[in-house]
Amino acid sequence: MPTPEETDVLQTAALANMWMPTQDWGDIAEAGVGIMSEGDGVRVRDVHGVWRYDGSAGLMLVNVGHGRQEIVDAIAAQLSRLHYADTFRYGTPEVIRLAEKIASLTPGDLNRVYFTSGGSEAVESAMKIAYQYHVNRGEGTREKFIARRGSYHGVTRGALSAGTSRVLGRELYEPILSDNVRFAPHPYLYRDELGSTTPSENAVRSAEAIERIIVEEGPETVAAVIGEPVSFSSGVAVPGDEYWPMVRDICDRHGVLLIADEVITGFGRTGKWFAMEHWNVVADLMTVAKGLTSGYFPVGACIATDRVFEAFQGGPETTFRHGITFGGHPAGGAAGLANIAIMEREELPANSARVGAHMLSRLRELRERHPSIGDVRGIGLMCALELVANRETKEPLGSIDGAVKLLGAKVLELGMITRVGGNLSLTPPLTATIDDVDAMVCIVDDSLSFMEREIGMA
Ligand code: PLP
Repeated sequence: MPTPEETDVLQTAALANMWMPTQDWGDIAEAGVGIMSEGDGVRVRDVHGVWRYDGSAGLMLVNVGHGRQEIVDAIAAQLSRLHYADTFRYGTPEVIRLAEKIASLTPGDLNRVYFTSGGSEAVESAMKIAYQYHVNRGEGTREKFIARRGSYHGVTRGALSAGTSRVLGRELYEPILSDNVRFAPHPYLYRDELGSTTPSENAVRSAEAIERIIVEEGPETVAAVIGEPVSFSSGVAVPGDEYWPMVRDICDRHGVLLIADEVITGFGRTGKWFAMEHWNVVADLMTVAKGLTSGYFPVGACIATDRVFEAFQGGPETTFRHGITFGGHPAGGAAGLANIAIMEREELPANSARVGAHMLSRLRELRERHPSIGDVRGIGLMCALELVANRETKEPLGSIDGAVKLLGAKVLELGMITRVGGNLSLTPPLTATIDDVDAMVCIVDDSLSFMEREIGMA
């Protein structure tokens, strides 16, 4: 850990030379850059020596927890054997084995793994594959995508074109985005746009809304529907059971591909290896990243079914002309294999289901005591509280000046890092125990009490 003097020097350098993602620089300049130095299990320590729960698992990805020496060793061994080979022309043993392993875990015939260095590139690749799939089959007019409002698919231009999550600041970039994306409502019962009153009604109406768009645009112009099986950016709104099977059927009837963006939900987050398994739906293309290596090395992938891959056979005319220098990096192969080995050995998807169910019921209890909680949602170790200023009107808590900031600061002070905005989310490492999540929920409870007192809500 750096000394206090070294920490001061680091802080000055950070403020002078870092460009931190997405945050208002004024806030950073005022508060300073948070600097982390160490991690162990479900906790991380900052440079001041304070240990806190990692309630967000970094960016919803440290699935196996911090400080897993066996992953570090696997990466180090790979780097000393061969740190890189021309990934356009060669495979390496670990990367090949990782592709085989992923194919064995993914549902159905999602057997072809195209490696990238992150989630945005995986989505970018999926969108290009979806379009070219149709071109290769003589249906080049299928150039539109249907996404859902509130989604987050990444920050590159294609992926951003399909996202409207608030943090993306999409409006600013609109003039340089593709205009071939149409947006359907998100299946989000709490703020339903379609007049539904039950999860089932909401699921059916939301799926029908997708079909309406396909029909209005003309099915012969639509390449794919893209969606996160459970959208973190839309506040972990878990769709009713009818939704994904209906969307799958709609896509099939109109010759449209389905892209499941499992960048957050993949690798156990929702209590199964992949979230689409909750509904027995196999997408045509699946994007993954984050939990694939738990962040020990940056790796993403777009996984295609045999049928999709088949459309790219037959010579240079139909080849997928797309390559990413660090996609298929040997160290990523080693990291992914070691990470998945831990997940299998420790049965982390099952732990996510079991501990996640407990966490959700504890969070539901909080709703009875805290008027600032409008709704509680979750699946596996992916839960969110939707925060409101008024339960009757559902006005967001953000409408009360400073309330969200107060809450976020209190959560941090009481010993947890997590994401607090319109929602307070909890997505700890999948190694979390019942005791860990009880402690985390306690911090949320106390922080809400403090904030509600301060703003005069309680
Ligand atoms: N898709 C989803 C659902 C995501 O949540 C994210 C990132 O959070 C991405 C894509 C983009 O991934 P990355 O940040 O690795 O580019």
